[in-house]
Amino acid sequence: MNKPWFRVAIGLGSNLDNPAEQIKTAVQNLQALDSIRHVVLSDLWLSKPQGPQDQPDFVNAVCVCETCLTPAALLAALQTIEQDQGRIKQRHWGERLIDLDILLYANQLIEQPGLVVPHPCMTQRDFVLIPLAQVWPEDDLPNLGKLTELIANLDQSFILNQSSAETQLDTK
Ligand code: AMP
Repeated sequence: MNKPWFRVAIGLGSNLDNPAEQIKTAVQNLQALDSIRHVVLSDLWLSKPQGPQDQPDFVNAVCVCETCLTPAALLAALQTIEQDQGRIKQRHWGERLIDLDILLYANQLIEQPGLVVPHPCMTQRDFVLIPLAQVWPEDDLPNLGKLTELIANLDQSFILNQSSAETQLDTK
């Protein structure tokens, strides 16, 4: 029987070693998987770090795609991409080559060991919500209310500007 496909949103962030390239490489690595299709990437956004301030600014983006992987298998695939790109994690909310988070998995609410979806921190992060609004087709988010209202009610701002980096993707 054919596996069902689910629309998912993946948050991407990098602040080391040409961050815009790191984001684009991660998206290419995702696109290369047979279990991923219809990839759309938001603009890239430059943002100041949420954690320690003695680190470079981040480039953030959100990618929406369809997957036939289960949530746990998708997380494992993202962690493999992070490791293949050489993920460095030195400190909490610190610098990283590439960070990939599952933001949304269709309209599902998931609480498993090591996996919570919608991603618990996303409602406070403009660098997640604003690119998400560029690519996620629905305003109503599972258990979180309306995306437009979450953006209007943000009380902290991390985004510095929209990155000028080119984000054209080859479509699959
Ligand atoms: P971080 O390094 O901050 O991205 O955190 C990674 C850890 O968060 C991993 O151990 C994951 O198991 C856990 N985690 C929980 N929920 C999620 C999610 N929605 N997406 C990615 N990682 C998650």
